[in-house]
Amino acid sequence: MAASNPTGTAITSARNLGFDPDALREKYRIERDKRLREDGNDQYLEVSGDFSRYIDDPYIEEKIEREPLFDEVEVVVIGGGFGGLLAGARLRDAGVQSIRVIEKGGDFGGTWYWNRYPGAACDIESYVYLPLLEEVGYMPKRKYADGKEILWYSQEIARKYDLYKDACFQTEVTALRWDEPSERWIIETNRGDAMRARFVAMSNGPLNRPKLPGIPGMETYKGHTFHTSRWDYEYTGGSAEGGLIGLQDKRVAIIGTGATAVQCVPHVGASAKQLYVFQRTPSSIDVRADRPTDTEWAESLEPGWHQRRMDNFNVLTSGGVEEEDLVQDGWTEIIRNLLFLVRNEDEPDLSPDALLKKVELADFQKMEQIRARAEALVEDPETAESLKPFYRQFCKRPCFHDDYLPTFNRPNVTLVDTQGRGVERITEKGVVANGKEYEVDCIIFGTGFEVGTAYSRRCGYETYGRDGVSLSEKWQDGMRTLHGMHAHGFPNCFIMGSMGQSGFTANYPHALNEQSKHIAYIVDQCLQGNQHLVEATEEAESEWVDAIVQYARLNEKFLADCTPGYYNNEGKPQDRSMQNANYGLGPVAFYKLLEDWREEGQMRGLKVS
Ligand code: NDP
Repeated sequence: MAASNPTGTAITSARNLGFDPDALREKYRIERDKRLREDGNDQYLEVSGDFSRYIDDPYIEEKIEREPLFDEVEVVVIGGGFGGLLAGARLRDAGVQSIRVIEKGGDFGGTWYWNRYPGAACDIESYVYLPLLEEVGYMPKRKYADGKEILWYSQEIARKYDLYKDACFQTEVTALRWDEPSERWIIETNRGDAMRARFVAMSNGPLNRPKLPGIPGMETYKGHTFHTSRWDYEYTGGSAEGGLIGLQDKRVAIIGTGATAVQCVPHVGASAKQLYVFQRTPSSIDVRADRPTDTEWAESLEPGWHQRRMDNFNVLTSGGVEEEDLVQDGWTEIIRNLLFLVRNEDEPDLSPDALLKKVELADFQKMEQIRARAEALVEDPETAESLKPFYRQFCKRPCFHDDYLPTFNRPNVTLVDTQGRGVERITEKGVVANGKEYEVDCIIFGTGFEVGTAYSRRCGYETYGRDGVSLSEKWQDGMRTLHGMHAHGFPNCFIMGSMGQSGFTANYPHALNEQSKHIAYIVDQCLQGNQHLVEATEEAESEWVDAIVQYARLNEKFLADCTPGYYNNEGKPQDRSMQNANYGLGPVAFYKLLEDWREEGQMRGLKVS
């Protein structure tokens, strides 16, 4: 019996699904197996040496000249993205005056500073994605903010919290060293600085190092190339809004079909003479339905609405249940479908096994809908078939776009489906896939960012704690932290982001916000009590590591069944130490745990002296 769920989406009851779950499960397995490869994460090239031009900063208008700094501040925050901004804001709120943000780019903005490709936008609702909306007093213009607005807003946070004061831009940290006698961190940079700080918060960004595919022949190509995270507008012309007139007489290849490519392909397709999109695995492309902010609704919001909305979204995207779905978009639909399935059963079986099965069914339903969308929007049946993703929705980052799929109806746009194998070779003239050479003037790498590599490599510097022991040495057999934030032997140092052992949520700034509150609380406690040192005890760290490993097992099967990608260590989740997993009970439980810890007021697991 077909019916409608509260949002009006057509949905079918469990008794009459309209698809065969066993057949789909088998199809998912076959598609995953096609993509499994021996080299896993090693298939990618580090952007260094000959490739380092891929990470030059194309946005700097003027190089900042300054003398090296040897002074001392209370807190150094590394990274000027949302993590650094939130840490700075919460520390300011806690009364910390002396804060220095160090940032590689020329301004605040982090990922939104670097990623200015045409069409760059956030597909998590702006009312939950943008942090500090009530504090800053800002209402986004649309349900989904574009990159330009997000970059402006990042800088607005910095202005509001006076974080430009003392900030060091165009500055890369090269090493962090704990100086035992003075009980200070010494921060060395590529500007010759050796500044000192009592506390350090590291917010380097989960996706800050672009990666290139290790395709044979890369170095032989004679045409133009760049990575999406350093868009070359000098070559393409136009702007983030499109109008790439420089491509009108160009044959262009885009390699990759992840969340970034999905956003820029429509613009390149609209401007280039010819566009070839090289696909290894299709993304799931759901409805976006962007719209301007309803001013009446915005004015009706009660104080505290922002945190409530973020929490609501977080619960629903982590498999929890809420009376109301405030965001109501593709991210929260699986749980809506699940509730609908349960409510339609006369005597629902709510045992954990039965629930897992229902979640899988709701997922199948969602993905059937996504596949039907590709069929409905893409005219050529073979291309439509190639664009259908066969894996669970959260195996890869889901995408939400209304122009991507129709772009393949353009006569100048060709999807090259590599059937899970990827591009074979790059030649002097172009790209080879399925044994055929495609001659192009330009190759754009939409191949993403390093995720599974060593933490210090992704940071770009090493951190040396007590007795000169580095974080890499300490973590050689897997991460060891308390709450993903503190490491024994590394006093007064806070690790931000969901790099592991922390709470991971799709809405990344939410995670950073919770961590920032926690850091600000700890720093405030230390300063109020006139305490100099705060450090995780070995015992607390061990307990946390045990908990992480124990709960990581809950997600092991899901990840192993997934198509390869950065969520499952390129199809090798078992190779990644279980210790490096995030908190397996989910972000809602993790933030609650942090909140309870603060409420307890004992600084449990930390040695304060
Ligand atoms: P991804 O890592 O998601 O995608 C990389 C793409 O490159 C994949 O399609 C991958 O295929 C493909 N690829 C890699 N090697 C080859 C090869 N040898 N041949 C052919 N294809 C290859 O990177 P993105 O930059 O797209 O996105 C990174 C993340 O940034 C997202 O997951 C998301 O978290 C974030 N993002 C968020 C946005 C937002 O709206 N908030 C917008 C854009 C990005 P395969 O899938 O087979 O590995």
